Amino acid sequence: SMASPALLMRVVASAYSVAEKAATIVRNVMSAGDLGIVEKAGPNDLQTKADRLVQMSICASLARKFPKLTIIGEEELPTDDVTEDLIEDGHCEEILKKPCPAQYTGIKEEELIIWVDPLDGTKEYTEGLLDHVTVLIGIAYGGKAIAGVINQPYYNYEAGANAVLGRTIWGVLGLGAFGFQLTEAPAGKHIVVTTRSHSSALVNECITALNPDHVIRVGGAGNKIIQLIEGKASAYVFASPGCKKWDTCAPEAILHAVGGKITDIRGNAFQYNKEVKHMNSAGVLATLRNYDYYASRIPNTVKESLVP
Ligand code: AMP
Ligand code: MG
Ligand code: MG
Repeated sequence: SMASPALLMRVVASAYSVAEKAATIVRNVMSAGDLGIVEKAGPNDLQTKADRLVQMSICASLARKFPKLTIIGEEELPTDDVTEDLIEDGHCEEILKKPCPAQYTGIKEEELIIWVDPLDGTKEYTEGLLDHVTVLIGIAYGGKAIAGVINQPYYNYEAGANAVLGRTIWGVLGLGAFGFQLTEAPAGKHIVVTTRSHSSALVNECITALNPDHVIRVGGAGNKIIQLIEGKASAYVFASPGCKKWDTCAPEAILHAVGGKITDIRGNAFQYNKEVKHMNSAGVLATLRNYDYYASRIPNTVKESLVP
């Protein structure tokens, strides 16, 4: 008989189904029409009913199945009296059929930290830019992002009524990433993807210094990593604080699983242990290829303006 799957693969398989449930909630809240928007730090830092329900759904569903996980979600909400209709207890069988990379087979539940962004791209969600939205479940071990799930609830929403709406991308370091077609960006072109709703003078100064052929401004950290792995952009550049550990954990694991690289603007790796500061104060620099080309062109003045 087959040995029971490694804990890491069971957590990823469950996170996959939990993220699909989350996507259904994101779509249902939008179709019901009452977003219940709350300002957190200000008008560019919003929370909707979907952020709240999905946070409860993901955290409670994973905690019920894996009670010793440390789960850190973006929204501060109680998870004790979550209604049963928010609980997902399924898992993806395909993921359980894949081998766990040898270096992760001994991981125990209490050693994993789960970073949850229930809805990444909230500003864009409230503005109807629906394909910018993702649900992010990142899995960290030993301070490193080692696995992740990105669900894009509105993938294909402009492709017509016959197109399948939504998709789930997942990956594990040492195994690879699945649920999309890895595509290279156009050769010899420098296409930078960055924020559309959190720009600043420094963000723009940094991009100008890179002299890109084209700049894409879209919402969401998850969405921007998808642009890198699908060849739409060659670098994600954000010279500003604002992005948090739950924005980068799942995207980092998936990008690294396919050979890309993500750091802060100064070239420091992100840490994902549970005690770490949530804010990525020194911004984000990510690429699928040619990381050194972009890193070497970031001005020192920009680096010195961002304190990790
Ligand atoms: P963006 O590229 O603007 O969509 O940002 C990526 C992620 O970082 C999203 O979750 C944003 O909410 C978050 N973020 C970036 N900058 C800020 C900011 N100035 N205030 C609050 N959240 C931010
Ligand atoms: Mg986010
Ligand atoms: Mg969010």
